Parts: sequence; structure tokens; C-alpha cells
Amino acid sequence: MKSVTLPKYQLLKLKEWAKGSNEEICGFLFGYEKAGSSSIVECSLVKNIAPINRGSRFLISPEDYLKAEEYSNSNSLQLLGVFHSHIGASPNPSITDVQNSLPGIFYLIISIFENSQFEIQTWELQPCVKLVKTIIN
Ligand SMILES: [Zn+2]
Repeated sequence: MKSVTLPKYQLLKLKEWAKGSNEEICGFLFGYEKAGSSSIVECSLVKNIAPINRGSRFLISPEDYLKAEEYSNSNSLQLLGVFHSHIGASPNPSITDVQNSLPGIFYLIISIFENSQFEIQTWELQPCVKLVKTIIN
């Protein structure tokens, strides 16, 4: 199983963003990959532009994808993946998540429940849905 390492302080950022929003939050994961294991160095939040149901949907604009590519190139980082939150639902990818996904990147889902409980899971969605081991460090 592939693995991805998420530093604790980046997890804290994701939790804060997710807790403070009644819409799904989304953004990019930057870092590097070595021998099949990926390390996240930075998470950056972007606008959820889903036209409807932003409480259970997310969409990232093509401009933000371009900016993320440029950012990773100019900072010698790789664009490792995309994160988004699920509000009160498990961190399993929805059918829409799978339909809108791209190959070659990870999808990290952070679920936020009442009383600020959270759960986190990372996935590869293309060409088929596969769980990636998330290591919090
Ligand atoms: Zn989702």
C-alpha cells in the first residue's frame, strides 16, 4: 500500500479550516515523493466553486489548478494531491468525488463531525479506488 505522511501542524490547519466552515473546504497538497512514499510539506486552501450544494460538493476552478502547478514548479515541490472535507459523513469518496477525480494524485478527505471529532483518509481514485495509508507525524 502506498503511504502519505502528513505533518501534525498541517493536520491542525486542515482541522481548523474544516471546523470553521459549513461548506466543504478544498485545496492542494504539496510535497515530495521518494520511493513510493509521499510527504506533504504544505496544504493550501482554495475556493470551493461548486455551483450548488457546497455542503456536500466541492469543485476547484481550472485557474486554481494552473496556479497550483505554477506554485509547485517554482518552489521545487510536487503537486501531490487534493484535499476536501466531508461534513458529518465518513471520509470515503462519494460517487461525485470519483467521477471528478484525476489520475496520478492523492485525494485526502477530512471528515468533521459534531463535537469537533474528525477522521481522515487518503485515496487514489483513478484508475480505481484504492486506500492510501495516512501517517500523521
Ligand atoms: Zn467528497
